[in-house]
Amino acid sequence: MHRFSSLLILVVFFLGSCAEQKVDEKETILAIFAHPDDETTIAPVLAKYATAGHDVYLVISTDGQFGVTNHFGMPAGDTLAAVRDGELACSCAAMGIHPPIRLGLQDGMGLNGHGNFYEQVPQFEKAFKAVLQQIKPTKIITYGPDGDTGHPDHRLVGLLTTELLLKEKLLPEIDLYHFGWTKRQADKYVGWNLGYAADEYFDTAISFGKAEEEKGLETIRCHKSQYTQSEMDEWIQWELDDPENVLYFRKFVLSEKQRSVL
Ligand SMILES: [Zn+2]
Repeated sequence: MHRFSSLLILVVFFLGSCAEQKVDEKETILAIFAHPDDETTIAPVLAKYATAGHDVYLVISTDGQFGVTNHFGMPAGDTLAAVRDGELACSCAAMGIHPPIRLGLQDGMGLNGHGNFYEQVPQFEKAFKAVLQQIKPTKIITYGPDGDTGHPDHRLVGLLTTELLLKEKLLPEIDLYHFGWTKRQADKYVGWNLGYAADEYFDTAISFGKAEEEKGLETIRCHKSQYTQSEMDEWIQWELDDPENVLYFRKFVLSEKQRSVL
């Protein structure tokens, strides 16, 4: 166990060095999540790379038409989806990245009853494959198995993205990163029960400054259909009270050793 930990520290150091050497190379970074507002999780990092001159895209898989909240009072349907479209565009503008790309699936495509899982999964694959061919990302960020809040749509989009890269043999040309929280970070969001992974299982740590943090906070303020003013204020205060300003990722890496035949 001790040897394993030491090895991980070396891996972190190595990746950190590589990241610094690559600063001048223009990357095409694509983040893919399930719902309009999921991008708030990593907004400061997307803003950081956009500010540095990289091409940054956000793909959102569902239209969010079932994101009904008491305070906003709009029923499920196309009108709510249109409102959330506007909120997503506001968020991308705040981060300074390209306008959002929407795959147009229904939220609840996971396990909680809306839409049709077996119809929507191939639709996701077809639509996302077309986006990959058009955008040609060099790096993709999506949810890991913990899926932020553990929402079935979050977990599913992370899984389907990972599956597609494996199926299409795209990993040599695209670096895939799973985003996740450390336990300390998950605990920061009191009462939200966020998923997390052990600190040492994240091999990539991306820091961000005050300007990127503020852009991230702006993305929260865009999603007025989803959060009351007091919820947004509380969330923003949690971010401001956190002095770390680092988000953690785990690169999806295949073993280079030859296949074992047992
Ligand atoms: Zn979500």
